[in-house]
Amino acid sequence: MTGKVYLIGAGPGDMELMTMKAARMLSEADAVVYDRLVSDEIVGMARADAKMIFVGKSSDRHTVPQDGINEILAQEARAGRIVARLKGGDPLIFGRGSEEAAYLHSQGIEVEYAPGITAAQGVASVTGVPLTHRGLATGVQYVTGHRQANGVLDLDWKRLANPDTTLVIYMGVANIGQIAVGLMTEGLPGSTPVLAISQATTKDERRLVSTLDHVAQDAREAGLKPPTLFVIGKVVTLYADAMPDPAQEVAAHA
Ligand code: SAH
Repeated sequence: MTGKVYLIGAGPGDMELMTMKAARMLSEADAVVYDRLVSDEIVGMARADAKMIFVGKSSDRHTVPQDGINEILAQEARAGRIVARLKGGDPLIFGRGSEEAAYLHSQGIEVEYAPGITAAQGVASVTGVPLTHRGLATGVQYVTGHRQANGVLDLDWKRLANPDTTLVIYMGVANIGQIAVGLMTEGLPGSTPVLAISQATTKDERRLVSTLDHVAQDAREAGLKPPTLFVIGKVVTLYADAMPDPAQEVAAHA
């Protein structure tokens, strides 16, 4: 009998940020397919006898290409296993979960989702910086800062350069300079505050507060590496209020 695949959002890192549904599905799994965005703590919640399959995968280096991952999931399910596909954050936000689901459906394999706390929400919860705030941001946009190999970062800068919404950039660390210039060219002030966080909600978390015109340099000097999330907009002015102890800041621009 064919098994099924659970597409599970593991959240941003902290194990307590997983949903109960995600934890239950993971504990049922005969096979677990995971990548490097999922913390060891969470991977360790799998059954001791589960078959563990690491597929690497970062934004710029794919240990197993997407087709290969799709095929592994299908094979494991065809072997009758309950397969947990563990993904960082939410599987349906920059997670390619829907591509995996489409392939599995095309193979007649059942898919069930467990939503996860996306990085933006994890960052908001640990810093107290809201994604929306009355008078500061009427909405929030989640945007990818990742460029296909050899491609240009083709974003609608005009639409994004809105001082009244919060911009959250996923996968942006390599291109934050280009992103900042694109936004400033369309009129977003260079003084717009930016919060950059690496490995948010984990013990290795690092934070940096900067401004749009300095963030590329600050991020480079601080050596920020993926996974890093950038929150751009007036809501970041609430950071100091929200965090009485800014000891974890690695740099700040006055
Ligand atoms: N599905 C994930 C996003 C995957 S794309 C989610 O919903 O969060 C990978 C990007 O997510 C990273 O480059 C980074 O921008 C962001 N990210 C994921 N986890 C993060 C974390 N713990 N801290 C900071 N950024 C994170």
